[in-house]
Amino acid sequence: MSTSTESPPQVIAEPWWPAYGRFADHCIQCPTCKAVDDQGVNRRLPCADHDRLHEAYRQARHDTASTVTGGPA
Ligand SMILES: [Zn+2]
Repeated sequence: MSTSTESPPQVIAEPWWPAYGRFADHCIQCPTCKAVDDQGVNRRLPCADHDRLHEAYRQARHDTASTVTGGPA
């Protein structure tokens, strides 16, 4: 069995992926972001780190989108 494929396995190499990873990691680890009320509904408490990471992710996506949008300018 020798499969010599040059294409790597599904690796997301988007520039914004690291930023999204940090944002997602924060969301599942941060006690503030995970806080829920009696009904189990996320309380959406303000969290400076969450905002900062989300903004970084949003910026990264925006930067990517601006370079990827097809068609001549
Ligand atoms: Zn948080």
